Amino acid sequence: MVIGIPKEIKTMENRIAMTPGAVETLVRQGHRVLVESGAGLGSGCTDEQYTQAGAELVDAQKAWSAEMVVKVKEPLAAEYGYLREDLLLFTYLHLAAARELTDALLAAGTTSVAYETVKGRDGSLPLLTPMSEVAGRMATQVGAHFLEKAQGGRGVLLGGVPGVNPGMVLVLGGGVVGANAVRIAVGMGARVTVMDVNHARLQYIDDIYKGRVITMSSNEPNIRAAVQQADLVVGSVLIPGAKAPHLVTREMLSTMKEGSVIVDVAVDQGGCVETIHATTHDAPTYEVDGVVHYGVANMPGAVPRTSTFALVNQTLPYALRLAAKGLDALREDPGLALGLNTYQKQLTCPAVGDAFGLDS
Ligand code: NAD
Repeated sequence: MVIGIPKEIKTMENRIAMTPGAVETLVRQGHRVLVESGAGLGSGCTDEQYTQAGAELVDAQKAWSAEMVVKVKEPLAAEYGYLREDLLLFTYLHLAAARELTDALLAAGTTSVAYETVKGRDGSLPLLTPMSEVAGRMATQVGAHFLEKAQGGRGVLLGGVPGVNPGMVLVLGGGVVGANAVRIAVGMGARVTVMDVNHARLQYIDDIYKGRVITMSSNEPNIRAAVQQADLVVGSVLIPGAKAPHLVTREMLSTMKEGSVIVDVAVDQGGCVETIHATTHDAPTYEVDGVVHYGVANMPGAVPRTSTFALVNQTLPYALRLAAKGLDALREDPGLALGLNTYQKQLTCPAVGDAFGLDS
């Protein structure tokens, strides 16, 4: 199959859909890979590395002319002209929040497989997990940074020093993001509490850290008490398909320490802190009632090299199957079939249809 890897054109998007190593694997399996010149530079992957891996360097138009185009982000309006009926598009799409793009894909008749709706055998979302791992680990790291006085924080070193208490980290939601935030907080030497409504997640974390991390049931009284003690609160809850619940209310903020920091990773689902709103890497924080709020909705974008490799580790096995078998790969794997969002001018993802009141 001919596979195209265009350069991402979304602002500040430095990831690329395939690493040179992944290209080499595809080429070895007999595929032709067209990589847009310069597409990998933001992730530290040079044109030379791609040509050595067996790719052909091309312009955007040529990359989009391939039978299958693999991308990171959804096509933007400037790219709609490349959509066509005999194109298989494999990328993040998030169509439920993108009516214009959905209409463009349907009008063109493009077959699209969206990373975010592919499911693993255990019901997990394997192509979302790597970005949650990145965001979770970053959450503690950026939280520690914004606790510095010069960054608006209360001037607390999370790990403390001999003779001085470490900082307190509260993690709300012990899923993929939360467990990774806990891991870095423990590594830094902080005192860590994690809350979840799913007992199995608390058991898992308790088992790993053997008392080093306090696990608590997530409920209003526990959260109210814990936010008063916390130097850093990480928001990492998810109720699939729903807006995140506001676990930290506006009224609770006034009980928090001056200069404490909230990193609400769940901001992309509305956030679990009532006062959070989405921010950007250019201006990541703002203050409400003396509490620093961080609400960047695309945290992995800050570390494109790590994020590219983490994403490709998960997408490559699927891309290889799609390249080898085309749509038969979907028939063989019901989890991959759930990734199909548009096919022959029809919406094939019920959640997207529900969002727009369309048949699917
Ligand atoms: P996940 O499903 O692995 O974990 C979510 C956890 O929240 C689960 O363990 C669940 O039991 C728990 N939970 C649900 N309701 C709760 C409550 N009331 N109190 C405490 N815990 C509760 O999800 P994830 O992959 O960790 O993702 C978490 C959020 O982070 C999602 O909204 C995701 O979209 C977002 N995210 C954001 C970025 C970013 O850049 N900002 C990057 C990756 C993921």
